[in-house]
Order: sequence, then structure tokens, then C-alpha cells
Amino acid sequence: MAPTLLHVQDLHSFYGESQALFGVFLSVHAGEMVTLLGRNGMGKTTTLKSILGLVRPRDGVVRIEGHAVQGQPAHRIARAGLGLVPEGRQIFPNLTVAENLVATAANPTSGADPWTLERVFTFFPRLAERRRQMGGQLSGGEQQMLAIGRALMTNPKLLMLDEATEGLAPMVRAEIWRCLAQLKADGQSILVIDKYVDALTRIADRHYIIEKGRIAWYGTNSDFLDEPALKERYLGV
Ligand code: ATP
Repeated sequence: MAPTLLHVQDLHSFYGESQALFGVFLSVHAGEMVTLLGRNGMGKTTTLKSILGLVRPRDGVVRIEGHAVQGQPAHRIARAGLGLVPEGRQIFPNLTVAENLVATAANPTSGADPWTLERVFTFFPRLAERRRQMGGQLSGGEQQMLAIGRALMTNPKLLMLDEATEGLAPMVRAEIWRCLAQLKADGQSILVIDKYVDALTRIADRHYIIEKGRIAWYGTNSDFLDEPALKERYLGV
């Protein structure tokens, strides 16, 4: 099996006195696409934020390539190799497409084939056409591509996406999943957080389902497909 890139164990996170995570665990191996699925409010975003140090877990372990990072400041954890495509995209509306991408570029010499502006434009030709337009002028799907491109510019070991296709039309959603499938085929490790599972069962390797702050089920994609009741029970679809 490929080496473990991200290892999360027994995460307990709180908002004030209100506990949101109760011992969450998950792992992602190099080259894998893993999903964290669950209904609204079950703790998906809190798990991502706890991994990234944006919410400080009260207990638990987060290891990136074997190094414990929990408790470190968020920018250091990100620099250890995590690239986030945040919920709501959060691109800079008053910067051009190219400026949005350059604003986050990092680790330009890491890896054999680092992400550069030109590589992002080759991967997303639509962004190349719009390179001089303001981020705020792009369609929802283009903004999502920009948010993904921006995360790739940090040359992440693990690309993490929070509700990447939220609010997008079905065709645009399909285009985003195609992009992710291509990234995975190129060897990018990916953790996807989503409510919609159908498209993901065509590309993901493994799934975790979270319910009320606890991992309620986990397994391989084929295990998931063998248990159709899971969808209704935990995802309400
Ligand atoms: P969604 O898709 O709606 O974002 P989610 O599965 O990502 O759902 P979280 O956002 O992680 O869920 O929320 C988990 C729990 O933590 C919920 O009960 C939510 O109300 C609570 N919560 C989230 N953010 C905060 C916050 N800033 N302050 C207090 N409670 C919060």
C-alpha cells in the first residue's frame, strides 16, 4: 500500500463549550481520493478546519507524512503540504484571474513537475481565456476552477475540497468532477468533502461518513456500492 499522507486519530473539537467532533479518525494514502460525506451540520467542515488548525482540536492527532502537526499554527500546517479549496470558493473578486493564482503560489521548486501559472492555464483552458478578467466577473464554475487552481499553486501534497460543487449547475458540476478525476489520474492525493456521493463513487477510492461528529461508517468504494442503504441512512438521498 502507498505511504500514509494524512493520518487523523481521535479528534475532539469544540466551539466554546459545544462539542462538534467526538473522536474523528481518517487517513489518506499517497495518490488516493478519499471522501468525507455527511448531511449538513454533521461536522465535515469542522473536521477539515481541525486538520488545518483553523479550529484547534482539544484532543487528537493529525500527522502529515508521519509528522504530528496538531497544535501548530494554521500557516505551518498548510505549508506541510495541505491545499484547501474552501467552501464558497473565497477567491479575490477585485484581482484578475492571473493575480488570484499568483497571490497564493508557493513551494515553486517542490516536486518533479510543480504547478505554475502556465500549467494551471493548460489544465483549465477556460481560465487562460479569462486570465485578465476580475475574479468577481467569472461564472460560478469558473470561480470554482480558479479556487482549485489557486490551491494547486501551493503544490499541495493533499488537495482538500470543501463542497466543491455547491450551487453549481449539473453540467458544471460534472466538469469539476472530471477535473478532479484527471488530477487523481496524474497522481494528486485528494480529500473531498461533500453531500453528494453519486459522482464521487465513480472516482473516489474510499469513503468516510460522518454523523453528529463521529465517523459512522468507512470503507472502500466497492464496499459503499455494495450497501445501498448507507445513502438513505446517512446521506438522506
Ligand atoms: P455544512 O455542510 O452545513 O457546513 P458540516 O457537516 O460541514 O455541515 P460543520 O459546519 O462542521 O458541519 O458543523 C458541525 C457542528 O458544529 C454543527 O452542529 C454546527 O452547528 C456547529 N458549528 C459549526 N461552526 C460553528 C461555529 N463557528 N460556532 C459554533 N458552532 C458551530
